[in-house]
Amino acid sequence: MKSATDPVENLVQLITCPSVTPAEAGALTALESMLAPLGFSVERPVFSEEGTPDVENLYARRSGNGPHLMFAGHTDVVPVGDEAAWKFPPFSAAIHNGQMYGRGAVDMKGGVACFTAAVARHITKHGSLKGSISFLITGDEEGPSINGTGKLLEWAKAKGESWDAAIVGEPTNPDKLGDMIKIGRRGSLSGTITVNGVQGHAAYPHLADNPVRGLVTLLDSLLYPALDKGTKDFQATNLEVTTMDVGNPAVNVIPAKATATFNIRYNDSWNDETLMAEIHNRLDRAAGRRKLRPGRKSPVNYELTWRDRPSHVFLTHDDKLVGTLTKSVEAVIGRRPQLSTSGGTSDARFIKDYCPVVEFGLVGKTMHMVDERVDIADLETLTQIYERFIEDFLA
Ligand SMILES: [Zn+2]
Repeated sequence: MKSATDPVENLVQLITCPSVTPAEAGALTALESMLAPLGFSVERPVFSEEGTPDVENLYARRSGNGPHLMFAGHTDVVPVGDEAAWKFPPFSAAIHNGQMYGRGAVDMKGGVACFTAAVARHITKHGSLKGSISFLITGDEEGPSINGTGKLLEWAKAKGESWDAAIVGEPTNPDKLGDMIKIGRRGSLSGTITVNGVQGHAAYPHLADNPVRGLVTLLDSLLYPALDKGTKDFQATNLEVTTMDVGNPAVNVIPAKATATFNIRYNDSWNDETLMAEIHNRLDRAAGRRKLRPGRKSPVNYELTWRDRPSHVFLTHDDKLVGTLTKSVEAVIGRRPQLSTSGGTSDARFIKDYCPVVEFGLVGKTMHMVDERVDIADLETLTQIYERFIEDFLA
């Protein structure tokens, strides 16, 4: 029986499965074959939704008397990009100069491999668990994220599962292992503005109504003044205009329509409702401005549509979880990690509705890149941090 105590061996098994979302490609089977001999009961629910590919997920639990700790993550990976540009084939798990190369090495098969090794060492050492540990692993984090963590949590809750805390093994460290624990995330909200004008001759603008003037007026109101100055735990909310489209090939024609899309990363001074209201207010006020539309009687004729589902801002206030993990990092590495809320969204946004959640994993420098790779030494260090954390958290 293999005991899965070596994170390097675990990671080789995971990387060599080409599990680009939504393909399972053997990655969950590999994980199951590590967890089942450790006494975990493993289930692999497949979730579907119209318009998205079916995705297989994994939930594994080993029960004991004490707190219930969840480890969450994903075994799917982003596509390899230009395969010829890789130093080693992206699913070969080649080791070179103390680093293992492969898609998912840090994001985040590496985190899964280390947590599995940590649990295996704990069980080997003690023969049992003081509390319960579960693995909540999705195959749909890098894709639409519809048949993944959100549904897996609902599914598990419906079976009566509940958790005291969760740790997500995403690569949270910007530069060196131990730099950063993420204790929250900004929210994300996107919208598209369409301005309807009147098409006409560029030499006779009074007969037309150029929607570009209206669109620029509206966007100006979103970009200035700034939405806020930041809060104690978060950087300032930021709005970026991500595309502006008119699609007009003629220089002498005023177009009929102009659109722009924006994305907002927002902090805990907002929720999606208050932020949407603020955006609507700014646009309605700006629509009447004449600066770029001299002599126009009617306000800018625009529509605003919100895109996708917003992802909510959250901040974890749980001294036991944050404190225990901070101490584990310090004990193994000798440095105090920064507690941060920076960066993009993650599946922690779903988990925060069920239990306190933090994120800590490998160094993220090469995630999603050609030649994604991990220091072999980091795999051992992260395993030790996780092992220490499990020991102290379940105690
Ligand atoms: Zn990831």
